[in-house]
Amino acid sequence: MGGMEKEGEEGECEMRYNVPQGEEFEINTIILDLNGTLSVNGKIPAGAKERIRKLQRLGFRVILFSGDQRGTAGKICSNLGIELRLTPTGREKEREMLKLDFKKCASIGNARIDLGTFKHAKLSIITLQAEGIHARAIEHADIIVPSINDALDLFLNPDSLCATLRE
Ligand SMILES: [Mg+2]
Repeated sequence: MGGMEKEGEEGECEMRYNVPQGEEFEINTIILDLNGTLSVNGKIPAGAKERIRKLQRLGFRVILFSGDQRGTAGKICSNLGIELRLTPTGREKEREMLKLDFKKCASIGNARIDLGTFKHAKLSIITLQAEGIHARAIEHADIIVPSINDALDLFLNPDSLCATLRE
């Protein structure tokens, strides 16, 4: 049975997934990339903000790792109420990732710069949106979805996530 449960004190919640015929694991942090992932051609798709709010209410920590190509990352993060780590290169993304409990992190991205987080994340998700994906990112992906909202929905509907991961 797939499922998700909250545990522990507020702010220390852990989301546990039991994949049928697969493993049990926990995700408590979602790392987002900005361009081509959270934003498409500079715009945040409708519905993404509400989904992020719901995830935060469930106890997920949401952090944006961005090279800030358009200089808008700070404003976007304060608007969405999420943390920002300025990471101009894939190596910087990797360095920031390794400061976290990365075995409980999911990374959502699309580009070559995201290899830094995809290499270590428990779960790597690619969003196949208008800005495209880097071919090498596919090697590290566990799941590929059409949009950022679909990616966030996997954590709001744990049965869908488990259904995609089960053997
Ligand atoms: Mg990107």
